[in-house]
Amino acid sequence: MVLTKDELERYRRHTILPMIGINGQKKIKNAKVLIVGMGGLGSPLAMYLAASGVGTLGLVDFDNVEASNLQRQIIHKTSNIGKPKTESALESLVEINPYIKVNCFNEALSSANAIDIFNQYDIICDGTDNFQTRYLINDACILTGKINVFGSINQFEGQISVFGADKGPCYRCLFPEPPIPGSVPSCAEAGVLGILPGVIGTIEATEVIKLICGIGTPLIGRLLNYDALSMQFNEVKFTKDKDCPCCGMNPTITQLIDYEDFCNNTISSFKEITANQLKEQIKKKQMPILLDVREDDEVALGTITGSIHIPMGEIPNRLNEIPKNETVVVFCHLGIRSKNVIQYLQEQGYQNLVNLKGGIDAYQSF
Ligand SMILES: [Zn+2]
Repeated sequence: MVLTKDELERYRRHTILPMIGINGQKKIKNAKVLIVGMGGLGSPLAMYLAASGVGTLGLVDFDNVEASNLQRQIIHKTSNIGKPKTESALESLVEINPYIKVNCFNEALSSANAIDIFNQYDIICDGTDNFQTRYLINDACILTGKINVFGSINQFEGQISVFGADKGPCYRCLFPEPPIPGSVPSCAEAGVLGILPGVIGTIEATEVIKLICGIGTPLIGRLLNYDALSMQFNEVKFTKDKDCPCCGMNPTITQLIDYEDFCNNTISSFKEITANQLKEQIKKKQMPILLDVREDDEVALGTITGSIHIPMGEIPNRLNEIPKNETVVVFCHLGIRSKNVIQYLQEQGYQNLVNLKGGIDAYQSF
């Protein structure tokens, strides 16, 4: 692996760093890094790793660019709305650095393709926004022996760690069980400061370069927390769990599992109704009792006429307003918080609860 004259010129600020040098830059050029998710975290990750000269970058995403992505996903441009995110990202990366190779996987990461894809790379970066994919990435990294550079964001806070390195703990050592479905709202539901993924993704990229060059102290066995509001970082140390089902002494996860099922089986069963079915019922004057659990400012944008409105956080104190012996259809924005409310109400003895699938978002789009 040699660096051309143009590359030597381009990477001069790296090569004059004694800890990187020409040798380090060659290691960077030789490295193959996979980024799962071309969203808020994937944007700075891909842009900085490309600019740094990582020789082969893999990008995994099945989504298309939407207008609501552009507040934080800075790799995508307004003119690329509607295009696959991997293609849109590729356009930016070629402009940033034409000396690297970029492979696009315009598909969802799954138990069927993860091992094959991971085998082609040295380091895997988690830029995803859901628990199914986080557990999938973790397990696939352990099974293929790859390092997992992890980041996550929520509103004004973020976390970063490095999992699965030699003797280091994995994501499951830190979080053995997935959260109750719906208990952790997604960025689509809870919102996120546009700059936040820039900070967290950039720290992930820093860890990648350190790992490639073998310099500094990576975040192995350390979970770094960042709070943008107080502008503070703090760190939680954690160790390998010898009973970890994935990286422990006697692992029970020896192949990839159904992660959808793994992350959802903590919830008791409940019925669901689609937006279309609900509209039909209302048309036939079979209006069920509807419970809107969104916040006041969301309801102000529109609701289903005749709904009872109790914001999620007020439910425990206002149970007397929810009829126990009739069917109640619970809804929120996207149908995730409502599942959480249903689980809570079931614990309080309610039985006839139905979730509006896709929430009012689906209802209003019919
Ligand atoms: Zn583990």
